[in-house]
Amino acid sequence: MSETLIRGADTILTMDDDRRELAGADLLLRDGMVAELGHGLVTDGTVIEARGCVVTPGLVNTHHHFYQSLTRAVPGGQDALLFGWLRRLYPIWARFGPEEIHVSALTALAELALSGCTLTSDHQYIHPNGARLDDSIAAAQAIGLRFQATRGAMSIGESKGGLPPDALVEDEAAILDDCIRVIDAFHDPMPDAMVRVAVAPCSPFSVSRELMRDAALLARDKGVMLHTHLAENAEDVAYSLETYGCRPGQYAEDLGWTGPDVWHAHCVKLDGREIDLFAASRTGVAHCPCSNCRLGSGIAPVRAFRDAGVRVGLGVDGSASNDMGNLMGEARQAMLLQRVVHGGDGMSAREALEIATRGGADVLGRPECGRLEPGARADVAIWDTRGIEAAGSWDPAALVLAGPTRVRDLLVEGRRVVADGVLQGVDLGEIIAEQGRLVRRLMA
Ligand SMILES: [Zn+2]
Repeated sequence: MSETLIRGADTILTMDDDRRELAGADLLLRDGMVAELGHGLVTDGTVIEARGCVVTPGLVNTHHHFYQSLTRAVPGGQDALLFGWLRRLYPIWARFGPEEIHVSALTALAELALSGCTLTSDHQYIHPNGARLDDSIAAAQAIGLRFQATRGAMSIGESKGGLPPDALVEDEAAILDDCIRVIDAFHDPMPDAMVRVAVAPCSPFSVSRELMRDAALLARDKGVMLHTHLAENAEDVAYSLETYGCRPGQYAEDLGWTGPDVWHAHCVKLDGREIDLFAASRTGVAHCPCSNCRLGSGIAPVRAFRDAGVRVGLGVDGSASNDMGNLMGEARQAMLLQRVVHGGDGMSAREALEIATRGGADVLGRPECGRLEPGARADVAIWDTRGIEAAGSWDPAALVLAGPTRVRDLLVEGRRVVADGVLQGVDLGEIIAEQGRLVRRLMA
């Protein structure tokens, strides 16, 4: 039996069903789970003092492209819309291989962990030069985050009227075969799973209808989730209308891409009928506010999603369209954007944090994560509110208003991934140096 006691937190934001907030409280973790919350708890195991800290469930990232951390702030892609931005970056990504995928994933995961993330998804839709999903799964295991890997793919290259160059697309039968391979090798359906795998064709504009349909059939057969990009901006909707003769929501529904086992990234341009469809079918949304701002895609109707009962989580999106990967910063951006549209009460700090924790966990089909209650997984973020960012705050638990945006400690399945602000088990300096070496090679 292994126990860790997080003792004397100024506030524990439980994000349980009653959204309880406990003052001066303790949190006892046992064998990878939350055992007890209360006052005066004791243990023979490890004790982490949390006076001066706010304790929250670990944050959950529902959409990312780790590999893009090697192409942040690329000149020529800094000021483009989605399709132009993709055309600038595709030829660079086509030169990647296993080493680029692995090192960029370590970088993205380290950045997420330091910003409080315990559970993340990644949408890896390029596999050039021998790169495999295995390369990013190995990185997640090295950093120690809980991982929802997704086997993405593109199959319609330029020569067939698609957007990506032919070098980045794969044969559809081979894509489905490799989906089966990685599900069989890595997917763990158990509640304590550290790795799960989902099936994730890149987007309606880079794969065929047939692949979308077959991917949904395969995922249902294997009992895994489905993920893609949908209705990201006006160009994306126009492509759907022109190519398929229907809006993105209709396209998704026709091909089996709605349901509690499906989550779509962005959904900036969903209309009222599509929002009702997502609510009724319990389809999830990965809201990526910084990326949507960065690419000028628009403001996703998150207030309408939430009011209609659509499940919403947060995503930092790929590091080439953010270009940061700070999940706490993303929660703040989500809150601010809804206020731009709806006024000062458009989204509270607590609601933004709820979307960033239990909201994301539910979207990823992990309701045992994203809340601190007995029986939940022991995924915990500890925020030191005695630093400069929160100095003067009357309500330090309103974390997305005043800081900090970096954790002091992070535990996943009860294991310490960050301690006193330092990543455990990996050398951050070495990861940054490797990343620098690969970027210089790409720029040469
Ligand atoms: Zn994306």
